[in-house]
Amino acid sequence: MIVVMKPDATDEQIRHVLQRIEELGLKSHPIRGQYLTVVAVIGDEPEPVKQALATAEGVEKVLPVLSPYKLASREAQADRTVVRARSLEVGGAKIGVIAGPCSVETRDQIMQTAEAVREAGATALRGGAFKPRTSPYSFQGLKTKGLELLAEARERTGLAIVTEVLAPEHVPILAEFADVLQVGARNMQNFPLLEAVGESGLPVLLKRGPAATIEEFLLAAEYILKTGNTQVMLCERGIRTFEDHVRFTLPLASVPWLQEHTHLPVVVDPSHGTGRASLVTAMARAAIAAGADGLMVEVHPDPEHAWSDGFQSITPAQFRQLMHECRAIAQTLGRIL
Ligand code: PEP
Ligand code: MN
Repeated sequence: MIVVMKPDATDEQIRHVLQRIEELGLKSHPIRGQYLTVVAVIGDEPEPVKQALATAEGVEKVLPVLSPYKLASREAQADRTVVRARSLEVGGAKIGVIAGPCSVETRDQIMQTAEAVREAGATALRGGAFKPRTSPYSFQGLKTKGLELLAEARERTGLAIVTEVLAPEHVPILAEFADVLQVGARNMQNFPLLEAVGESGLPVLLKRGPAATIEEFLLAAEYILKTGNTQVMLCERGIRTFEDHVRFTLPLASVPWLQEHTHLPVVVDPSHGTGRASLVTAMARAAIAAGADGLMVEVHPDPEHAWSDGFQSITPAQFRQLMHECRAIAQTLGRIL
C-alpha cells in the first residue's frame, strides 16, 4: 500500500510512520517529493495495518494496491473458474442457462416447465422452494415439498437444480436436494449464510444485492471462497436506482468489469433485472453480447396465474425464441449455447 503524507507533515511525523511500518513487520520505502512525501509499504495489506497507518498524525490517506478480495481477484488466479454441477457448466466456452419458474407451485407446473426449458436448451432448472418475499403475507414457497418436486423434475429431465437457501439452518435440507445453492439478493451480506453455503461444498450462485457496490459483492463472494469452496458464480440481477420504468436497473457493464477483475463466472438475470416480461429477451441478448457466462431466466407455463413474479416471467414459447436469438449471438462470439 501507499501512505500519502500531508504536505505539511513534519520530519518527526514521517519518522513515526516509518517506525510504525517496521513495528507492524513490514518494509517501507519513503519517496520525498517537492511538495509531499509518500511511503511505499511492502508486504501484506491487512485492514488493521491500513487503519493503524491512516490514523497516524501527518498522514493524508492510505491507498491499498492489492484488491481487498484476495481470493476472488484475477491477481489470485489467472485462469477462469469453471463451475460444474451435473448438466450445468458456467465459465468455460459453454454458456449455462438456468431457467424455470420463480417458485415451485405444483407438480404439473414444475414438470411442464422443466421439460419445456430442457427442450429449448436450458442446462439447469431453477425454482424457489423457500421464497424471500417482501411481504410476510405473500406466498412463502412450498418448502420441503417444493424441494421434492424439484428432485423429481431432475429425475425426469436430467437438469441440475438451482434453488435458493434463505437461512444457515436450511443448508442441510437444501443440500439433500439441490445441485446449486442460490443466495438471493436480499441475503448477499448475510455473512453466516455465506459461510454455511461455502462449507456445504456445493456450487453457489451468489446474487448481487440491489444496493451493493461491486466491491461489496466481491467481498461477499470472498466469504464463500474463504471456506475453501471455489465453485462460486456471480449473478448480476440489477440494482435499485432512481429509475422506475423498470423494477431494477440492469448494469451490464458489470459483466466485462467483473471478468477483468475476477476469475469467477458471471451470470445475468434479465428477469429480476428488468421486472417486465417484454424486456427479458432483449436484455438476455445484451447480456450474451456483453460476454456473460450464463443466464438465469424466469419461465412459467402460465405467467398470468403465477404465484410469484408472473409479470416478469416469460412463457416456454418466448423462452425458445430467446434461446434461438441468444445462440446466434453466442456463436458470433465463439461460444456455445
Ligand atoms: C429469485 O431468483 O426468484 C429471487 C428472489 O431473486 P433475487 O434474490 O435476485 O431478488
Ligand atoms: Mn423471482
